Amino acid sequence: MIGNSQFSSPQATEWVKGKVIGSGSFGTVHLAMNKATGALFVVKTAQSEAGLQFLKNEANILENSNSPYVVQCLGKEDVSNCANGERKINLFMEYMCGGSLSDVAEKFGGALDERVISLYTREILLGLKYLHENGIVHCDLKCKNVLLGSSGNIKLADFGCAKKLLNHDMIKTNGKSMESCKVMGGTPLWMAPEVLRNEGLDFAVDIWSLGCTVIEMATGRAPWGDDKVSNPMAAVLMIACGNEIPQFPAQFSKEGLDFLEKCLERNPKRRWTTEELLDHPFVTGKSGDGNSIKEDACSPASVLDVGCYDGSYESDESPDGGKTEIVWLNKVVGMVYMPL
Ligand code: ATP
Repeated sequence: MIGNSQFSSPQATEWVKGKVIGSGSFGTVHLAMNKATGALFVVKTAQSEAGLQFLKNEANILENSNSPYVVQCLGKEDVSNCANGERKINLFMEYMCGGSLSDVAEKFGGALDERVISLYTREILLGLKYLHENGIVHCDLKCKNVLLGSSGNIKLADFGCAKKLLNHDMIKTNGKSMESCKVMGGTPLWMAPEVLRNEGLDFAVDIWSLGCTVIEMATGRAPWGDDKVSNPMAAVLMIACGNEIPQFPAQFSKEGLDFLEKCLERNPKRRWTTEELLDHPFVTGKSGDGNSIKEDACSPASVLDVGCYDGSYESDESPDGGKTEIVWLNKVVGMVYMPL
């Protein structure tokens, strides 16, 4: 992996913090402006000691990443105050003006069009392919952690739970080895059954979460349905120990349904890899009969094409107002669960 040496960290005197544009279980993301250039970027901070650890992990992964499908790190600064013992880090990242895919889905009526989903999914896969080739498992893929740029480009974000697998060469050659991690994080309803059973970690866990993310894009809701959202512990047991998979969107094409089957295979060894999925008709845009299944899916050709845009889209409003802040620390299996 290559570091982002072309960017230097903004200096404290040269930037100003704007309003909150997002928050999660451990971090707050503010819009920020470089006072020397007027350029916008974001700054992520953490409030708690646990949040600081996740933010350090994220900084470590992002500082060593360089992909058009991974949010770009612009540096970090340690603003710990030795006098009062307060520990704090500012992580600077590029600003993705579309916000997260859950923000986008919400602003466009909840669910996204299948043709758009296939475009976004292809770019998510390219991001995952980059990570997996570099031995990194994202571990917390969901719409909230996928960001949209102004040209419809997609980047993966929120690497607080990401893991660098130490022996990933071995995993690549026999495809079967699992790295065991003492602490794993993620969001339960998007987590693969083997992760919830604490059996270990390999790249296939991101593919399961990708399937859940595609369902989320198509329905505007968390995978597994609303009753599981209200009873998350029962959901964890059911995902870990049952035989079920999440319900597929009824309106999906046969290519979309087949793609989901390949992702949501309970046996991780039979789950498809990023490379295999990048050749799937759902993302290549070619159906089995060779016809295009997603023509018209790119940017509008004229202003008349943007009829569904209601003009109320403001990328700097907080998308997470009112979100329940629940963090479970499951000491038995050593997992940190994020809220939905
Ligand atoms: P989680 O609870 O998933 O761990 P978190 O505390 O790690 O969340 P993030 O997921 O990184 O925080 O960010 C929270 C929200 O902030 C995102 O869903 C998105 O709406 C917004 N956001 C984060 N990074 C950016 C960015 N680079 N550009 C624009 N918006 C962003």
